[in-house]
Amino acid sequence: MFSRRAFFISSAAVSFATASAATAQDACSVFTPDRQKATTPESALQLLKDGNARFAAGKTVNCDLLAQVRATSNGQSPFAVVVGCIDSRVPPELVFDQRIGDVFVARVAGNFVNDDIIGSLEFATKLAGAKAIVVLGHTECGAIKGAVDGAKLGLLTKMLENFNPSLEASRAVEGERSSKNKKLVQAVADTNAVLAAKKLTDRSEILRDLVAQKQLVIAAAMHDIGTGSVKFL
Ligand SMILES: [Zn+2]
Repeated sequence: MFSRRAFFISSAAVSFATASAATAQDACSVFTPDRQKATTPESALQLLKDGNARFAAGKTVNCDLLAQVRATSNGQSPFAVVVGCIDSRVPPELVFDQRIGDVFVARVAGNFVNDDIIGSLEFATKLAGAKAIVVLGHTECGAIKGAVDGAKLGLLTKMLENFNPSLEASRAVEGERSSKNKKLVQAVADTNAVLAAKKLTDRSEILRDLVAQKQLVIAAAMHDIGTGSVKFL
């Protein structure tokens, strides 16, 4: 087991290899109830930002996932929740360099939120203790493009109505009203992530109270599929 004290005692003479191993060991420790309790909303957000910085720099941490499975088999204490799109290029655990037991994830095309998802978030925070919620949109989102183009297909037609408020709010964007207009698509994606984050406290008294009591932070963010970087909005 990695001992923090041992690491610091020998830190003057520690080699880079040892320091890397120690960091990896630390990053691979699963979240326990105590560790979750000691995590503030701001530090939960910082853990996600640091994880994305590692991801975008090609420096993700390699962990023994099966060891994490065993370590979390009696319970979970994730530090955050991510609401993301189903897009295959934006898996939240990979994008934020997180693993087993670290984050709750809700995914739906275009990362909008409805009562079912908000109820899930109430569980993840109020009951299961997560300290941060990030609504993660991404560039080149097919759902947003479909909404901009007014696509019609089966139940998708109805689902795309979830983006109407963001389409309305992006009326001032110049250029043609189609997904060929990249500026418009990105404006709708940004607005959609921000409005979804705002809707959480508008709609849920539980989430509103947690934020007011500083037990929870909610943020919107945008993942650039060209670079892997997440920008907080
Ligand atoms: Zn998408």
